[in-house]
Amino acid sequence: MQGNGLFLCYNSEDMRKGGWKMAGKRCIISVPLARRRAWIAAALLLLAVLAALLWPRPAQAPAASFPMKQAAQGLNDYDVTLRLNAEEGALAITETLQYRNGTGETLDSLVMRTWLNAFQREDTSPAGGELFDACYPNGFSPGGVTLYDVLWNGERAAHEYINADETALEISIPPLEKGKEGVLTLRCVAQIPFCAHRTGRTDAGFQLGNVIPLLSRYENGAWRTDEYCAVGDPFLSDCANFRLTVHLPEGYMPACSALLVQSEDGAWRGEMQASRDMALCVSRDYKTVSEKRGNVQVISCAWDENGAKRALEDALKALDTFSSLYGEYPYPSFTVCSADFPFGGMEYPGLCMIGSGDYLESRAESLELTVVHETAHQWFYAIVGSDQVNDPWQDEALCEYALLRYVEKRYGQGSFETLKYYRVDAAMQESVPGNLTPGSPIHYFGNLQEYSTVVYGRGAGLLLALNEMLPRGADDFLRAYARTFAFQYVSRSRFEAFLAAYAEMDAGPLLTDYLDTAM
Ligand SMILES: [Zn+2]
Repeated sequence: MQGNGLFLCYNSEDMRKGGWKMAGKRCIISVPLARRRAWIAAALLLLAVLAALLWPRPAQAPAASFPMKQAAQGLNDYDVTLRLNAEEGALAITETLQYRNGTGETLDSLVMRTWLNAFQREDTSPAGGELFDACYPNGFSPGGVTLYDVLWNGERAAHEYINADETALEISIPPLEKGKEGVLTLRCVAQIPFCAHRTGRTDAGFQLGNVIPLLSRYENGAWRTDEYCAVGDPFLSDCANFRLTVHLPEGYMPACSALLVQSEDGAWRGEMQASRDMALCVSRDYKTVSEKRGNVQVISCAWDENGAKRALEDALKALDTFSSLYGEYPYPSFTVCSADFPFGGMEYPGLCMIGSGDYLESRAESLELTVVHETAHQWFYAIVGSDQVNDPWQDEALCEYALLRYVEKRYGQGSFETLKYYRVDAAMQESVPGNLTPGSPIHYFGNLQEYSTVVYGRGAGLLLALNEMLPRGADDFLRAYARTFAFQYVSRSRFEAFLAAYAEMDAGPLLTDYLDTAM
């Protein structure tokens, strides 16, 4: 996720208006204003070229494709049918989960995450607190899930919510030995609140992130039941294969994680393999532009066509850059869509929601940064999963670093330095109350600004340090990391062990220094 300038301290007013590109270019182009400076710059450049020739970094392996077909085999299968009643703001969900017990233990329950239930009450809503006025401009509006059928292998199954905000639904099942399978069927109606959030409806349409109930993660002998806090993205799920059918009222267009095609009966259908989640936005007013890049259909939906075109260009550039740096984008489609919320953006597999404020022509540079950060999450969140509750740095800091590398590759060293100053150096200098560190879990953070400064800005410092330290640079490490753990879930300790093996060093002190030390 990315906040907007309102919440991101390192997005100063200038940076919010844009200026990093020009600031960067000025660093290079305006040098001839002083001849002496030009000579010094030329001499430094010559030295840098000589150094690169004499001590080149070892060659990097070409970016590889991720083995998605193999990964998809043996994953759980969801078959989800959605039917939207736009007037009522109700989404009927019929879902079957073909579940294979891969936990290595005998299970007597499954836990499904029903994130929408956190929107039932003002005090549990993730759109409450500092966000309330921006997300609920017309006052609080409740949302939630009404369950109709919960079946295991066709029989009614006992079930109850087991956490305070009712986002963890425990379903009792007869003992299921390891390796055995069964089918869970859910029928429910999701009431979508009037809320300008990744989950909610506004006059512009429906934003349906985290609405489809998904199986939680099973770790250390228990299902995760983290509550839905307002700061950060508390969603954890393993990759699964999805088949989706969406029935929409006439005139509505979907923007979705999966590549949807409208059938003769009017329904939209699609599939997505090895995906951690399935999200969509729906609007009557989307203008859609699209371009095929290799095997990937890149789609941009926005409420103004020029904005849609700008976002499409940004998405194409980001996909190209990150595919070459970290491995080829593996899904059949990538969609960037405008969303009516007070954030910069929000990532889902195959889909990024981008705050509509960035689509103004005057904010084109801000739009680019947001699209690029969210696109980087396709590698660090979607392809390689991590613990977004306890180790949010493991996707956010990596995406901030990837954004800096994008800027360096696309716009040069000067732009990179300018952006690094605003997004990392300034974050290092800012005073943040308490003992918050980039390695802190999301519920330690009281507001989005502290979270952005510490986890995104200071967290990216770790990757910049690795880039200096590692002979092949941080990109080679991240490419190896993505290839090794594609479609898996990587704890911090696995990250540390992998880094230690890759760099042939004890990585613990470095991670402690950057992630666990308050400034
Ligand atoms: Zn993010």
